Amino acid sequence: MKLSPEAAEKVIPPPESMFVPVKGPLGLRLALVFGNESPDGRCPFFQTQCMHCDIGGGEGLGFSHAMNFERLQFFKRHFREYWGQINHLVVYNYGSTLNPHEFSLETLKLILDFARQDEAIKRVSFDCREYFVNEKAIAFLIENTREDQIVSITLGFESQSEEVRIGHLKKQMSKEEVEAVFAAMATGSPRTAVEMNVLFQPPGVAGTPAVEEAVATVEYGLDLMTRHGVRVDFNFHPYYPSIKGSEAYPDHPRARLEDAIRALIMISRKIRKQGGESSLFVGGNDEGHDLQPSLKQMKQLLYDPAFAAFNISQDEKDLMI
Ligand code: SF4
Repeated sequence: MKLSPEAAEKVIPPPESMFVPVKGPLGLRLALVFGNESPDGRCPFFQTQCMHCDIGGGEGLGFSHAMNFERLQFFKRHFREYWGQINHLVVYNYGSTLNPHEFSLETLKLILDFARQDEAIKRVSFDCREYFVNEKAIAFLIENTREDQIVSITLGFESQSEEVRIGHLKKQMSKEEVEAVFAAMATGSPRTAVEMNVLFQPPGVAGTPAVEEAVATVEYGLDLMTRHGVRVDFNFHPYYPSIKGSEAYPDHPRARLEDAIRALIMISRKIRKQGGESSLFVGGNDEGHDLQPSLKQMKQLLYDPAFAAFNISQDEKDLMI
């Protein structure tokens, strides 16, 4: 289908929304960011929830299936030297990839078909809010992937504390709803997993309590894994000031990475004690929404080598800088 000049212009993502392949605990990992196909053009929660998130207002708004089709063709060309080597594909759409109003089934199927024919891809993750994770959606993902592929949901849980998650972040995600996500994922086990996002040092918590809070969030995830028989991996994201975050919490500082290291060491010990199956990935891509880019760059110089090494080895020795 021929796109209008305005639509065609939006197909190629701006550089800040382009992730690069990185080595992670599950092999070479690549995140692809598609557009949001919602009738309103964006994540339905962007205006009312998630005080830390500017991503729901990112570049990929007001997309159609035809535009996402073209974006996939672009990704195929752009990353051509990596296909056949990527092991973990992560799919974003500035919202919920399993909400058919934000991401049509045609688009979902297109991406699944693409992932299915690449033998190297063993894990495909879909970023999604809890409301849209149900048995039917999981069955669709499983039907459209290979038997040696795991499908997972990236769940922006952020914090086990209701005070933080529902109170400070205004993310209306109850623990009952998180349990329901795990129950739905269990229907596809062992071909399913949950990738639980942990926001380190969220508004309202800092210093040692932030370390304790991150550890408690991981403990909660590990408990869900045990009770539901669904593997849980963790994405650990240090807090940075975004537009929404800074407006709501102007005095809350960016995450202190010395504390993040302490939390990561404690978490990796917890995981090992539990059997060691879950992985822990430190993510740092903010898609250009970090309001302190120079500070970020300085911190990156100091800490990124340790995080990158840890992401591969999962060995706490790599965090001792
Ligand atoms: S965190 Fe997710 S659900 Fe919340 S506003 Fe951002 S994109 Fe939407």
